[in-house]
Amino acid sequence: MGRARKVLPMTDTPQTRLDMELAAREGDLIQLTQDLVRIPTLNPPGRCYREICDFLAERLRAKGFAVDLIRAHGAPADSETYPRWNMVARHEGASPGDCVHFNSHHDVVEVGHGWTTDPFGGDLKGGKIYGRGTCDMKGGLAASVIAAEAFIAAHPDHTGAIEISATADEESGGYGGVAYLAEQGWFSPEKVQHVIIPEPLNKDRICLGHRGVWWAEIETKGRIAHGSMPFLGDSAIRHMGAVLEEIERTLYPLLAGKRTEMPVVPEGARQSTLNINSIHGGEPEQDADYTGLPAPCVADRCRIVIDRRFLIEEDLNEVKSEVARMLDGIKQTRPKFDYDIRDLFEVIPSMTDQDAPVVKTVQAAIEKVLHKQAEFVVSPGTYDQKHIDRIGKLKNCIAYGPGILDLAHQPDEWVGVQDMMDSAKVMALTLQELLT
Ligand SMILES: [Zn+2]
Repeated sequence: MGRARKVLPMTDTPQTRLDMELAAREGDLIQLTQDLVRIPTLNPPGRCYREICDFLAERLRAKGFAVDLIRAHGAPADSETYPRWNMVARHEGASPGDCVHFNSHHDVVEVGHGWTTDPFGGDLKGGKIYGRGTCDMKGGLAASVIAAEAFIAAHPDHTGAIEISATADEESGGYGGVAYLAEQGWFSPEKVQHVIIPEPLNKDRICLGHRGVWWAEIETKGRIAHGSMPFLGDSAIRHMGAVLEEIERTLYPLLAGKRTEMPVVPEGARQSTLNINSIHGGEPEQDADYTGLPAPCVADRCRIVIDRRFLIEEDLNEVKSEVARMLDGIKQTRPKFDYDIRDLFEVIPSMTDQDAPVVKTVQAAIEKVLHKQAEFVVSPGTYDQKHIDRIGKLKNCIAYGPGILDLAHQPDEWVGVQDMMDSAKVMALTLQELLT
């Protein structure tokens, strides 16, 4: 045997270096995802936020990131018992350039019923990791960490900067997370140039944004009386019946006619929609252990909460006016009809341009890694992009990450290891394109 000599393969290109660094990290990616899932960051109420931020901070500091832990003091739901902690880690390159930011929310929704595995066990079975938050979105968070670490190993002298954030409360509006950070200047076009949110949109799809939201409570008014003599009172429930009938008769057909150019998935959400989230009228429901009968009263008030999702082609004021016009129309024709309407929540639609640099770069990376065309989609709901767009004024932002969207918030939620590896590769290639 001759003397062993280490020969660099002929294919020692930046590409193969990156591939090798990623391939060497598959076990690490699985372990990291499991570790994150085993920290039960339930929201509400907002458990273990500091713990998950500390866990990530320790890991990323060891990899050369500068880390800030930021508590959203005074944000909704922030308290001494449940403080809203966020983490931002930044890896500075060797020379100036763009900053690419990966933003993941670290909170997960309640477990719910129907699980056949431990929701916080992170079990690995048949190439899938199971647990609450695997898909939405600790798998995406782990993939972005691995992508950044592999990229830095392959390109220690990269330009610009990489940021990774883990933020609170996305599942409850993001006010203790991305909204707070954006208000504090963490997301501004001067500081950050490209944002990727690794939400579970499937590894071959780029999510450009989301529809708008308007929640409102409508209350009809009545007068209480004995149920045996309803003519002495005025039933708010019957008035609400007239509202519901009018929604069916005029509002739903009107909304069905409003189509959007936004590539919303699923297809059914490519129009304006309205859901009636709740209805309450008359005597309050009694506790489950109450064994008596209800009392006979005419309802003096009835309330519904409407959830109106609107399109980028629509104006929020017009969306609100449609409902006000409908209610005023009822008032003109229905004796004694009176109502109140109260805004609860609103989000303006957001959609990044298909020619934006981050879109183009991720699109090319998807095509290179998966050998297929990237699909552009828009979310029927909303996510933290709204705050990055509206508060941060940062437009060059997408959602891209592993996981099947339909599994989010479901029992036996899982994320596929191969999907995470593929999307980590897309993220790492994106970094290589933007920062070398
Ligand atoms: Zn999510």
